Amino acid sequence: MSNPFIINPGEGKEKKNEPDGKSDVVIIGGGPAGLTAGLYNARAGLKVTLIEKMAVGGQIFLTNEIENYPGIEKTSGPELIQVMEKQAKNFGVNIVFDEAVEITGSGENEKTIKTASEKEYKTAAVIISAGAKYKDLGVPGEEKFKGRGISNCATCDGAFYKNMDVAVVGGGDTAVEEADFLTKFASRVYLIHRRDRLRAVKSLQDKALSNPKIETVLDTIVEKIDGDSAVEKADIKNVKSGVKKELPVKGVFVYVGLRPSTGFLKGYVSLNERGYISVDKDMKTSKDGVFACGDCIEKNLRQAVTAAGDGAVAAYGAQHFVERIKGTEYV
Ligand code: NAP
Repeated sequence: MSNPFIINPGEGKEKKNEPDGKSDVVIIGGGPAGLTAGLYNARAGLKVTLIEKMAVGGQIFLTNEIENYPGIEKTSGPELIQVMEKQAKNFGVNIVFDEAVEITGSGENEKTIKTASEKEYKTAAVIISAGAKYKDLGVPGEEKFKGRGISNCATCDGAFYKNMDVAVVGGGDTAVEEADFLTKFASRVYLIHRRDRLRAVKSLQDKALSNPKIETVLDTIVEKIDGDSAVEKADIKNVKSGVKKELPVKGVFVYVGLRPSTGFLKGYVSLNERGYISVDKDMKTSKDGVFACGDCIEKNLRQAVTAAGDGAVAAYGAQHFVERIKGTEYV
């Protein structure tokens, strides 16, 4: 029987990678991790298909300012992603827009990725870089006003709040960074955090806390977001004193952490108790031939630079896996 993964030399770049064609590597998710993995695998001569649900970029696409990506003093999420996408495409990565809903197959057998539009992508190796989404607060009013006064994207929605008061909920890097960004538009930004100390890195805290438009509201939770046809107030409670207050705000930006986009894996690979994919140091998942990288994996530091690093490691593993089953590995 012929090896289903052997592809004619040069075929990868010229031949359009249609759903019924076979890839060496299928990457699920086009953030910094997936695009880096694609760049590395395509540059190594593999035929790579990257499946992206909406638009390449992931979480970082929503970031206004990036100043900790080495080699680039200051950029924005969209700018950084644009270059990564171009680089990956230049090496021959075929990006398709669809949503992966199921993966089957493991080891040296062909793997199949089924998509929401009922297409099937066949591949030797899989790299999962599906990222993570912002968590909801889970309070009354959130569903009603989502997208109409409650947002997870200051870059997209900040300008709607010119000269208005807004609240940012959360104490991590995202909340503090975005609170600072929102002061470009809003007259006052209440930064509401449930503990007495922010979690964000010191440099972000220093910048935000020296901003006269930001008022930190510590030891405080939001109990309800209310209004008639638009957001008019957030009901808050001090968790130490028990004192409740109504904060008049026109917008609420929620940054209370992330949840991994791994629901579609449905027991295919091992996940930890919070739904993040368990990987070893080589980004291998519990299934042979399946790798994972970026915000969807179990790790401590979720940054563009660690996502890109993980992506390169996952790609290296996938490359050696593909070469091994094709019989061409030379190390
Ligand atoms: P995060 O680090 O998980 O922080 C979430 C914040 O929300 C924490 O302060 C947490 O409080 C609070 N929180 C969680 N659940 C809550 C609830 N139900 N009600 C109220 N508050 C709640 O999430 P993140 O800030 O989105 O950051 C995600 C990852 O991206 C992190 O690894 C971060 O370092 C990284 N990131 C990096 C940069 C950068 O380098 N420039 C920028 C943005 C994000 P507690 O502190 O009490 O747990």
